[in-house]
Amino acid sequence: MIVPTGIFFYYQQGERLRDFPQALEGILDKDDVLFYDAFYPSKPKSSFDLEPIPRETLHKIHSSEMVKRVEATGDYKGAVYSAAGTVAAAIRIWSGEITNAFIFTGYGDHHAGSNFFGRGCYFNGAAMAVRELREKFSIKRFAIIDTDAHHGDGTWELFENDRDVLYICFCSGRFEEKNSNVNIHVPFRVTDSSYLALAKDAFGRWCKTFQPEIIFWNWGYDGTVGEYGDIALTPKLHFQMARDIKQMAQEMCTGRLVIILCGGSRRELALFLIPRIIEILAEQSV
Ligand SMILES: [Zn+2]
Ligand SMILES: [Zn+2]
Repeated sequence: MIVPTGIFFYYQQGERLRDFPQALEGILDKDDVLFYDAFYPSKPKSSFDLEPIPRETLHKIHSSEMVKRVEATGDYKGAVYSAAGTVAAAIRIWSGEITNAFIFTGYGDHHAGSNFFGRGCYFNGAAMAVRELREKFSIKRFAIIDTDAHHGDGTWELFENDRDVLYICFCSGRFEEKNSNVNIHVPFRVTDSSYLALAKDAFGRWCKTFQPEIIFWNWGYDGTVGEYGDIALTPKLHFQMARDIKQMAQEMCTGRLVIILCGGSRRELALFLIPRIIEILAEQSV
């Protein structure tokens, strides 16, 4: 039986996702792709509404004082729907409705901690998804892989004392290991092949022994050439990473994988990268 890929979409004004969801034409027609959206006026055929995240879910991860501060920014709605996609995807994967998912976020995850946020992140969707899966399904072991160019200080803080969540962050910071949090140092200029080798080594050393039951991938493309976090990665690097992480998910946890769009600003790169990454997710074999 083919279990579909889910696309979770928050319709947002702005430059980088201006070509979406129309750039998904051809992908959305497939029987094995389901589209979940919020606020999109003319919905494609196979679609489901995406519900906002309940306040009590926000408060399980973030302080009520921080939630109030996010409300005051004016970006609260987008922040809530961005995290809602990740939580909904995780629950639907665990329910068997979909195998894997791609989350179009307006606002990312990894700079949002228990009582702080910033740099384009408001709420930590992956952290809320972990919490919900624990409570609803008694899932025990989670992996979060972070290949945004910057350090995920929020995710690090939320899980640094939690041995059941493996967090592997690839960034310019020094190597560090604390409980199940690992920071992998990436040089300022790096070739695709050396980045892939770093990732392969890290996955072999930490993921394989950890054996997660579901993998979240905080995927940013801000480390690509010409982006604001440029570390010299080429666009094609992201396709190979998607294949490698999908294969790892298939080997370890029957393919359960949630890709969360994080950093990256350029519209043409989004147009080049995102549809192909979703196609890789939806392929029946790597
Ligand atoms: Zn970043
Ligand atoms: Zn880091």
